[in-house]
Amino acid sequence: QTSIIDKQALSEILEKNRSYIKQGTIADYIPELAKMESTAIAFAVADSKGNIISTGDTTKKFTMQSISKIIALMVAVQEIGESSVFKNMGYFGSDRPFNHFANLETTGKPLNPMMNAGAIMTTSFIKGEGEDAFIKILEMIRYITKNKTIDYNKAVYNSEKETGNKNRGMFYLMKNNGLINGDENKLDNYFKQCSIELTVEDLAKIGFFFANQCVRFDGDSIYRNVELSKLIQSQMLIAGMYEFSGEYARTVGLPSKSGVGGGIVACVPGRIGVGVFSPPLDTHGNSLAGYHMLLDFVKKYNLSVFQ
Ligand code: GLN
Repeated sequence: QTSIIDKQALSEILEKNRSYIKQGTIADYIPELAKMESTAIAFAVADSKGNIISTGDTTKKFTMQSISKIIALMVAVQEIGESSVFKNMGYFGSDRPFNHFANLETTGKPLNPMMNAGAIMTTSFIKGEGEDAFIKILEMIRYITKNKTIDYNKAVYNSEKETGNKNRGMFYLMKNNGLINGDENKLDNYFKQCSIELTVEDLAKIGFFFANQCVRFDGDSIYRNVELSKLIQSQMLIAGMYEFSGEYARTVGLPSKSGVGGGIVACVPGRIGVGVFSPPLDTHGNSLAGYHMLLDFVKKYNLSVFQ
C-alpha cells in the first residue's frame, strides 16, 4: 500500500466509483437543488503539508447545505461558549433523519447541532441583527479557505425559504419552548448558510482546518483552538452522517459531515482534510459516490481513526 497521495491515485478512486451516480437520487425536496447536474463528481485532499490535490469537476460549485452546520457551531461556540450552546442541546447521536423533530416535543431539546433542529438553534445563538449571523458564517468560510469569492446562491436560498416549512415548524416549536429568541431572520440565516456555494477544494481546506486544531491549510491561523476542533470533529463523528453515522464510523472511520447538495467533508485528525462531491444521494441524504470514494480512499491509505 502506497503512502503517497497523488492526483493519479485520486483519479483512479474517482473512476472506480463513478457508476454510483446512477444509483443515487438528487435531493428534490428543495426544488432548486433538483436542477443540479447529476453527473458532476470531484475529489480533493488538503495533505499534511497543506498542498491541494484534486481531480474531477474541481471547479464545479455546489451548495454546502448541512456542511455549514459545523461552521455555525464554531462561530456560536466562539461567541457564547460551549456550555451555553449545549445548555439546552444534547451531544447525542440519532437513529432519525436529519430533519426529524426527534425529541423536540418531549424534552424540548434538540439532540445535537448536526441535525436541523439543533443547527437552527445554534445559528440563532450567533449575535447580531438581520443577516449578521449569516455574514459571520460566510466570512469564517472565506477565512478558512482563503477564498474571498465564496458567496451564497440566491435561487437555492429562495427555494429553501419557500419550501422549508418543516424547518420553520421546528424553529417555532423551539421558540415556543423558550430555546430561541428573535424573529424569523434567525431562521433565514440558517437557510442562507445552507445556500453557500463552494468547490470540493474549499471543502478539503475546511476538513484540514478542523483536523488540525483550527489551523489553515497554509499553516497560519488566528483561531487555533484544540478544544474547538475536538468538539467539532466529535460531533461530525457521531452525527455528521445522521442515522448512518454508526455504520459510517465502522466503515470509513473519519469525522465527516455531509450535505444534501452532494458534498462530504472529512477530517483525518492531525493530518489531512478531504472533500468529495457527487449530487446523487443515498436514502439518508449522504452522497452515494462520495461515500464510496471515501471508503476506497481510507482503505488504500489506512486512514480510519480506529486503525
Ligand atoms: N437545507 C437542508 C435542510 O435544511 C439541509 C439538509 C442537509 O443538508 N442534510 O433541510
